[in-house]
Amino acid sequence: MRYCSRCIYSELVPNISFDDSGVCNYCSQIDQLKQEYKTGTEEGKILLNNIVKKIKQDGRSLEYDCVVGISGGTDSSYLLHWAKENCLRPLAVHYDNTWNSTVATQNIRKLTKCLNVDLYTHVVNNKEMDDIYRAFIMANVPAIDVPTDLALTEIMYRAASKYKVKYILEGHSFIAEGVSPTDYSYFDGKYIESIHNMYGSMPMITYPNMKILKFLYWVLFKRIKKIRPLWYINYSKKNAMNILAKHYDWEYYGGHHLENIITAFSHGYHNPVKFKIDQRNNSISASVRTGLISRDQGIKMYSKPPKFDSNILDYTIDRLGLNKTELETIMTSENKNWYDYSSSKKTFELLRPLFFILTKYNLVPKSFYLKYCFPIERQ
Ligand SMILES: [Zn+2]
Repeated sequence: MRYCSRCIYSELVPNISFDDSGVCNYCSQIDQLKQEYKTGTEEGKILLNNIVKKIKQDGRSLEYDCVVGISGGTDSSYLLHWAKENCLRPLAVHYDNTWNSTVATQNIRKLTKCLNVDLYTHVVNNKEMDDIYRAFIMANVPAIDVPTDLALTEIMYRAASKYKVKYILEGHSFIAEGVSPTDYSYFDGKYIESIHNMYGSMPMITYPNMKILKFLYWVLFKRIKKIRPLWYINYSKKNAMNILAKHYDWEYYGGHHLENIITAFSHGYHNPVKFKIDQRNNSISASVRTGLISRDQGIKMYSKPPKFDSNILDYTIDRLGLNKTELETIMTSENKNWYDYSSSKKTFELLRPLFFILTKYNLVPKSFYLKYCFPIERQ
């Protein structure tokens, strides 16, 4: 098996390629981003300080100057702490997919209370959400939890628009988790709708879908910018967890993405068992790249199967109304991916020059441009 000479990505990762020194394209992508955002350097600090100043200036007459999406997980919780530390006036926004773990719900409550931040929550109808997840399972695609990511994006835009806020802050860190391969986590509104049309049985009413025209409306017409502060700083998850626990009695939920039960099911069972996709390689690779652990330690860690609590499996299949035989059929059916369904991928590719300009103005994250706007060879 061929591995990247710098991280633990192997030739099994979709669309991987290696340069002359054996470094993979995902590592090079991160080098490029570090270069562009001056991550962890004095220059990076200055760039971010200037953005903070601009956010304050643009929002001075408003009730809030930015929107921060929050899940109860480490990165988004830390981001809210960071925003207050930098004297911003954030509105916290949460998309409740009704599958939150108790710990996540408590974390959100503790944090917003201690920081005295208002919370805007959109709760989806639980039956409707379950119908969408069931449709994704029936469609035999990986990453069945992506409808939550899209919904949070739409809800952040709605909240920003309602309060006339021009900035959304997002807690992604390519230092801590890399930029995952498109085939591992593809989503767009048309893709979600097409799977739901084929396999869903309830109308989509409270689920906040966002198709491309809506997306372009928020970006081009409302001009709402997306800022990822953790891209500029030397972010450490471990450090963030310590700060959160110390100041807010914030609790760790036991693993990346485990703050939500459907996400835990997707990452801990459905992806690794059915698709052999085990996304721990994103965060382990990140730890290897930053020198937190050695490459050999990383490969060893990754070779052990992910920890998974079987109660999560029981809860999920029971709640989605599946029995053991149906689950067995699902787990052994032919695997598909986003390219087997309708999506907006081709349109994103056609609009690549536009999206390139939009990334320059922070209207679209650079990772969107890199993941969605280039043709991908089907694996
Ligand atoms: Zn690599």
